[in-house]
Amino acid sequence: MKITLVAGARPNFIKIAPLIDEIKRRRNLGDDISYRLVHTGQHYDDAMSGQFFKELNIPQPDTNLNCSGHTQAEQTASILVAFEADLVDHPCDLVLVVGDVNSTMACAISAKKLNIPVAHVEAGIRSFDDRMPEEINRKLTDAISDLCFTTTQDAKDFLIQSGHDKNKVFFVGNVMIDSLLNHKSSFKKPAIFIKEKLEKKKYWVMTLHRPSNVDDKSELNLLIEDILNYIGEQKVIFPMHPRTRKAFGLELEKHSNLIITEPLGYLEFNYLVENALGVLTDSGGITEETSVMGVPCISLRENTERPETIELGTNVLAGKDRNKIQNYIELIKSNKWKSARPIPLWDGKASERIINHLLKYNHVL
Ligand code: UDP
Repeated sequence: MKITLVAGARPNFIKIAPLIDEIKRRRNLGDDISYRLVHTGQHYDDAMSGQFFKELNIPQPDTNLNCSGHTQAEQTASILVAFEADLVDHPCDLVLVVGDVNSTMACAISAKKLNIPVAHVEAGIRSFDDRMPEEINRKLTDAISDLCFTTTQDAKDFLIQSGHDKNKVFFVGNVMIDSLLNHKSSFKKPAIFIKEKLEKKKYWVMTLHRPSNVDDKSELNLLIEDILNYIGEQKVIFPMHPRTRKAFGLELEKHSNLIITEPLGYLEFNYLVENALGVLTDSGGITEETSVMGVPCISLRENTERPETIELGTNVLAGKDRNKIQNYIELIKSNKWKSARPIPLWDGKASERIINHLLKYNHVL
């Protein structure tokens, strides 16, 4: 079975790494499986792409479509066209896409229009908020995928209730957590930890990149200002996403407790998270990682497509509500945060389950 794997943006690289490891392992055991890796170029620089390949031992992509930048529509359109041409030149039995970025949706469409089966990893999750570009990508990708792999039983149930064939939807666990558990023993202390004289459980980590938080410059700067005031003395490490950099006010750089860095590598970032007192974020993936590591997490979002991180994990939703943010920060500071319970099948074996299903599916192709 020849699989074309697609990755385009930072969270994609973290999700495909354990799938590639598992394909290699199964191939070495004699299974009929091989892959071709296509990088769409959606994220292109070293901080958002290159360093993840090195750290997570992801082989160099077989091709890079170089579809970076531009508007949502321009980016999606350029990936659609470039991936179609790539698939025509390199036929395969199945295209596997992960997550919810533009590359996920565009490559699923190109493949289906060529009658190539599509598998979607991280299917069936919904924020029910169409203002998020990712929600559109999730709905469209799921609608045309032949095989759907979900992180929770609820996501599986949702897809089946929405009309998906129950024989083609599989609850397998979470590949992002496969990566986390595979690399946990290699997390490494970043230089900033020493330079800023950080002490374990006495600093915070913050990330922001969703359009709803970073597209309005004055709102973003007021939000950060308020958060810094609520936190008080303790330092806040803020690895800044390129989209956020555009909106960020230089006046905030004067704040001595706000430590701004480039986006960090995976091993250094998760070292910081694991040892932080708390995390403030609008990321989806980070709420999964904090839940598994038991680190308190405040989501600066009004909704989430990952309710299990709230029901079982360490996450809460605060949006931009200042009362909630302040109260949650106080709770974390006074060590009154809820403790996490295990999330079913988030055990580091999702990739193994996915490849098992794909090998079975190969027999019916
Ligand atoms: N991450 C990282 N370095 C950073 C910030 C995040 O390695 O400076 C990792 C993080 O551990 C998680 C992923 O990037 O695995 C989350 O990506 P992002 O927040 O961009 O995407 P989302 O999960 O919201 O789709």
